Amino acid sequence: SVVTRFAPSPTGLLHLGNVRTALLNWLYAKRYGGSFLLRFEDTDQSRSEREYIEAIKADLTWLGLSWDGAIHLQSEHAAKHRTALDSLAEKGLAYRCFCSETRLSLDRKLASSRGLPPRYAGHCRAIPADEAKERAENEPYVWRLAVHAPEGEVTVADALHGDVTFARRDLDDPVVVRSDGSFTFLLPNAVDDALDGITHVLRGDDHLTNSAYQVWLLHSLDYTPPVYLHHGLLLGEDGSKLSKRTGSHSIAELREDGLLPEALLQAMTRLGHPNMPDGLHDPVALADHFNAEHVSTSSVRWSDQEMWRWHTRLLHELDITALMPLLFPYVPDVDSKQLHGFTSLVVRNLELASDAEHFQRLLDAAAPFGSEEIAVVKEAGADFYRIALECWQQLADGDWKQWTNAVKERTACKGRALFMPLRVALSGALHGPEMSAVVDFLGSEEIEIRLRDTIR
Ligand code: GLU
Repeated sequence: SVVTRFAPSPTGLLHLGNVRTALLNWLYAKRYGGSFLLRFEDTDQSRSEREYIEAIKADLTWLGLSWDGAIHLQSEHAAKHRTALDSLAEKGLAYRCFCSETRLSLDRKLASSRGLPPRYAGHCRAIPADEAKERAENEPYVWRLAVHAPEGEVTVADALHGDVTFARRDLDDPVVVRSDGSFTFLLPNAVDDALDGITHVLRGDDHLTNSAYQVWLLHSLDYTPPVYLHHGLLLGEDGSKLSKRTGSHSIAELREDGLLPEALLQAMTRLGHPNMPDGLHDPVALADHFNAEHVSTSSVRWSDQEMWRWHTRLLHELDITALMPLLFPYVPDVDSKQLHGFTSLVVRNLELASDAEHFQRLLDAAAPFGSEEIAVVKEAGADFYRIALECWQQLADGDWKQWTNAVKERTACKGRALFMPLRVALSGALHGPEMSAVVDFLGSEEIEIRLRDTIR
């Protein structure tokens, strides 16, 4: 059965770009009844940090992208990576390269002056293994894979692109172990996929050439390579590479901004995947409608606006009972009896849960006004509010319409000059719910308290 994985390097926070890869692998696993593994590629020990492991786990959990089984740490397979290298070396498929940086850069210049790609010229391939071993005692070296060849091909089985075939003459001899003895991404990533039983790898098409090397490598180790799905990259709004500079956010940042995780998932899943039905609230529902064949092989552009539109829409569609706990932190003094009524009253006027703060006055007559609201109250003046209070008391159980008609008659105020001071006095905000609903919510006694408060 299907096994996918998300394999971040814990060298930074989760960003929009890697969330997309995580999400696609998660959706694929869920949609096709498989499992989704989380593997931290922590072999670059100098840059990997425990705190990023924790942060990435927290972000995935917040998004609802749960992983199956225990977390995998690439470093735990270090011995197996060594064994794999040894076995390649034994077969003459990996070799030590002693070329200095100066020599390599001269080679690159030479190649480019002849209009050739900057490929390793293969000097060290010919060194007999014994001799290389001896030199390794005193000289720095890297390990390379002997992929380049005048003949032959490597075929990457890709479920989106079909078979992608590379001529070995176009491939390089990539470095798999650096001169400090650490592995580059290629070998541990591929060997772990094999050891973890990964059947499908969804990743950006910037990895396509890596996949060619990895397919070669896995075949050389008698493993079956996974099926790849190389998706188009996620670009910024302006079509440039999505980076921190061009508007990528860390997930932690979006969470702080009060985003609903479902909004991010909606926006992300729909990118390059047309026909995703509207209004799905949770990741499992998205997975049910996910069709791997629809994942776009062209690049897609991220839109923050689109994500926030989903956010507002989802917020408005939430059940009042689901919304209540989201609002609660912003109106901590609300009593539990009021919270339901308050939430239904203001829901349409919220873009973020934190906007509930603007309507504090609906719950608490003592809530302070903002500066714009103070200006409205001052401009209307105490006489206006005194008349408004009298009219309200005379009506006894009146409604908004009757009340404003009466105030209009006595003050000759109309339009904005009539409605705005009343809205501000009662709700504390310049914009908000329908005033007839505000009047019903507050009730006569509370309305009087707020009007008196503005007369002082
Ligand atoms: N650790 C790699 C990365 O973060 C994994 C790439 C892959 O999905 O294979 O780019």
